[in-house]
Amino acid sequence: MISTHATLLRVSDITESGVHIEAVEEPEWLTNLPELWSEGDEIQLISKIGIDLKVNRVLKEITVIGNISLSIQSPCSRCVEPVKIELNPNVSLVLSPADKIHEEDDLEHETYQGDEIDLSNYLREQVAIALPVKVVCSEECKGLCGKCGINLNSEVCNCEQQEIDPRFAILKDLKI
Ligand SMILES: [Zn+2]
Ligand SMILES: [Zn+2]
Repeated sequence: MISTHATLLRVSDITESGVHIEAVEEPEWLTNLPELWSEGDEIQLISKIGIDLKVNRVLKEITVIGNISLSIQSPCSRCVEPVKIELNPNVSLVLSPADKIHEEDDLEHETYQGDEIDLSNYLREQVAIALPVKVVCSEECKGLCGKCGINLNSEVCNCEQQEIDPRFAILKDLKI
């Protein structure tokens, strides 16, 4: 099912056996996440957004469980090579009518009013939370040489040999 309103739920449509929401949203669906649309070489969205949710209702309490899937690309913070990352933020949400007050527990609680629930803002928020703060192509990435700028993962330069740590320079002059 591909629909721009897939994440808009009608409470009275949620049957006893639950509702399965499967949707694919265009990248524009996330236009309100500034992290993804900045001009620089930050995080770029490189896929559509898959949404797979199971919605259940017990009386007026609605449970939404599932996940979102998307791919992003971001430069490695050390060597600036582009890195592709698949994100799968989980969705685990309980919605109650706005007039009902809830005890705190492990699940995330939201409220709804009337018969319609628009999940899109909540889902976008889950994507925003899942975006990485810092991306590295590999934990072993050697980065770029601070002097000549070459990629030290694939090339070798002489910069480091020329620079002698002052502590070692003193040791060199010591006669033992
Ligand atoms: Zn790297
Ligand atoms: Zn160098």
